[in-house]
Amino acid sequence: MLQTLKLSGLEPLVIDDNSLFVNVGERTNVTGSKAFARLILSENYTEALAVARQQVENGAQIIDVNMDEAMLDSKAAMVKFLNLIASEPDISRVPVMIDSSKWDVIEAGLKCVQGKCVVNSISMKEGVPEFKRQAKLVRRYGAAVIVMAFDEKGQADTFARKTEICKRSYDILVNEVGFPPEDIIFDPNIFAIATGIEEHNNYAVDFINATRWIKDHLPHAKISGGVSNVSFSFRGNDAVREAIHTVFLYHAVKAGMTMGIVNAGQLGVYDEITPELRERVEDVVLNRRPDSGERLVSFAENIKSGGKVQVEDLAWRAEPVEARITHALVRGNTTYIIEDTEEARQKFPRPIEVIEGPLMAGMNVVGDLFGAGKMFLPQVVKSARVMKQAVAHLIPYIEKEKARSGDNKAKGKIVMATVKGDVHDIGKNIVGVVLQCNNYEVIDLGVMTPCAKILEVAKREKADIIGLSGLITPSLEEMAFVAQEMEREGFTIPLLIGGATTSRTHTAVKIEPHYSGPTIWVTDASRAVGVCSNLLSDSLRNDYVAGIKADYIKTRDLHANKKGQGPRYSLADARAHGLKTDWKNYAPPKPNFIGVKSFNNYSLAEIAEHIDWTPFFQTWELAGRYPAILKDEVVGEAATNVFKDAQAMLHNIIKNQWLTASAVIGIFPANSVNSDDIEIYADETRSKKLMTWHNLRQQMVKPLDKPNMCLGDYIAPKDSDVKDYLGAFAVTTGTGIDARVKAFEDAHDDYNSIMLKALADRLAEAFAELMHKRVRREFWGYAADEKLSNDELINEKYRGIRPAPGYPACPDHTEKAALFELLNAPQNAGMILTESFAMLPTASVSGFYFSHPEAHYFATGKIDKDQVEDCAKRKGMDMKTIERWLAPVVNY
Ligand code: SAH
Repeated sequence: MLQTLKLSGLEPLVIDDNSLFVNVGERTNVTGSKAFARLILSENYTEALAVARQQVENGAQIIDVNMDEAMLDSKAAMVKFLNLIASEPDISRVPVMIDSSKWDVIEAGLKCVQGKCVVNSISMKEGVPEFKRQAKLVRRYGAAVIVMAFDEKGQADTFARKTEICKRSYDILVNEVGFPPEDIIFDPNIFAIATGIEEHNNYAVDFINATRWIKDHLPHAKISGGVSNVSFSFRGNDAVREAIHTVFLYHAVKAGMTMGIVNAGQLGVYDEITPELRERVEDVVLNRRPDSGERLVSFAENIKSGGKVQVEDLAWRAEPVEARITHALVRGNTTYIIEDTEEARQKFPRPIEVIEGPLMAGMNVVGDLFGAGKMFLPQVVKSARVMKQAVAHLIPYIEKEKARSGDNKAKGKIVMATVKGDVHDIGKNIVGVVLQCNNYEVIDLGVMTPCAKILEVAKREKADIIGLSGLITPSLEEMAFVAQEMEREGFTIPLLIGGATTSRTHTAVKIEPHYSGPTIWVTDASRAVGVCSNLLSDSLRNDYVAGIKADYIKTRDLHANKKGQGPRYSLADARAHGLKTDWKNYAPPKPNFIGVKSFNNYSLAEIAEHIDWTPFFQTWELAGRYPAILKDEVVGEAATNVFKDAQAMLHNIIKNQWLTASAVIGIFPANSVNSDDIEIYADETRSKKLMTWHNLRQQMVKPLDKPNMCLGDYIAPKDSDVKDYLGAFAVTTGTGIDARVKAFEDAHDDYNSIMLKALADRLAEAFAELMHKRVRREFWGYAADEKLSNDELINEKYRGIRPAPGYPACPDHTEKAALFELLNAPQNAGMILTESFAMLPTASVSGFYFSHPEAHYFATGKIDKDQVEDCAKRKGMDMKTIERWLAPVVNY
């Protein structure tokens, strides 16, 4: 067991046996980055901080700071930069690595940082006494230390020299200085390979072997190195450099390398390097053939290095500031917005006038283009990001002024919330952004918001409108409850209803009758502004509200006349008309595996291959099927751009492990009982029951050749003596998302926050598809030879289904409680349920696997009271409770 190395910025960083490779961000280093050196030399510390922030955002867990530049007062620059970092919590949350070849610069830095940092580096190059003196000081400042493989004779370049020096340093530090071995990090020197000089060819191999040796012989010590050096001879070809770093790290980390100084955000995935390139790079890194350097050089010439450089047309920068602001808003370009906003602020008498003037004017252009169908949602959300960053810049000035004026010029105040028990908020966030763009003040209470809180905030803030959002069917009941409470508490302001399961009919029939104020269903985000402006306009409101009321009365009448959904069979008759499965001539396939299996930290790259992209575009309200949508005449360009951004973020998610994927699957002996329910057993004796899954059956009157379906029909009845089986699954790709989302939101970046949530949802569905495939092919194995393309998987060309509780074939969400217990989903996959049986993390999917060749999805439709009563008995629930959960499907 490795003893843990504990570092900290504002947050702890604990490095032990279980830790993955630790990225140390290298870009804040004047010797390694010309761009950073320029910023520091020109005293542009704001941009220099942005470099540090970008490293952290791209996944750096430590940042290396180096100010060793001849033209610079290195000590002063180090102190200044570290002090600036200290007041930027999004940077200083990670520990710092103080990097200098001059001891006095290091010591000056040590006096600035809070938390436990790393000194980079000390060594025996100036002799043992100096080495010991510095080590003692490092101890006294409470830091960990990087020890270079360097002695009085010079830097170690061979395996023998590296190991000999590290061993000697280690013994001195541990035995003579009393340095804790877990705080020692060796840097056995990474030198450039493929330089054309034969002696250099084995440098990477020597480093990797030395790493392994240190790990085996110097207890608890860690290993680090500056990775970019290794590819120095390929300067100018970033694609090849990235591949070399990736391959090098793949082997070095396997050998025990703990951390490395890298360009966080530019590491690839080993498995994703094309085989030809990987083979050539591996030849070089592992020194596998004498001509490997030349072979890679000639191959590298064929590889475009990161594509062509795009030259941005900057003509618009010559326009007056108002036009520039409009341009930035319409293009969603944040590059110059702070600069331009500041210029406008200085030009206008009051900061608020910048918002009311050029910013609103620009947003009006955006609004008009959106209204005219010339801009689409992703672009609008990008515009909103520009707007928010500009406003954030102005806020401090406005606050200062507020003491004097105190006016609030927003068009109206809207309190929005995802209701209690529900966790989904992509749609709500999009609506919020669109409203804010149109100068409404939005108070977003987030997800799982209890009714009392919504009403309390609405009162306190004197809200003009309340907006409720929900995704799962139990939320429909919760929304009706909020409407009742609004009535009881004497509210009169409009209530807006939105979200995936809501509808005009449901709003008219189940919500509006509870509340005498205006109650309005909002179809989608693009309608929200129109609805709000009608509601808050003195001249339009009355007619608009009267029109909606009349419309909803008509909807209710229509609904009442339909008498539910037509004639129903009694439950007994419906069962008699169930699917007649021929169990005599059919043997259910026997699974290769019985029990529960969990998967943690599943490869996101593999999951991503299974993504169905079409719903991604629906999230952004772009209509069309992928990939045709990318070439669509109307939305093609917007779709292509949002897709490009998605690919880039997906790359980051995978590379920097922004999300963690976990899954648990189970396959069990099972039989149906009482016609509709499915009993799930622990083993083949079928004596110990793990769960009973209660199912509903269609009761609509159908032609006689069309059975009244129930999922129980796909499983052999207990009294048939046929051995049947059922699978179950719960998967999530949402672990870890909250911190990332918060970082985006703190940076006023709704676009990326929504993008990340949308991608996490896509990955969760893809993971469900992938695990289902593996169950069919391996774990159950009834389709071992199945070979379907991703398109065929998306189109469900396989045998079997995976119905999910809450969906039309099994609309009862409460069954998820037993499902989660069956799989022990909290322990096995880190998934839990809310009080309304929504899953957390949000990007999660769960359900059951059926193998029967005839199994297909259907909708139970509305069910009659006799079935609800029967179901209440089977489930041991009282009628009132079950009626509430089944409200969306009861027919009375
Ligand atoms: N490729 C899609 C797949 C998700 S929707 C995507 O990436 O979004 C399809 C899933 O929804 C099914 O696998 C099943 O789990 C669920 N589902 C769909 N219709 C259903 C029904 N009628 N009853 C129960 N579950 C259903």
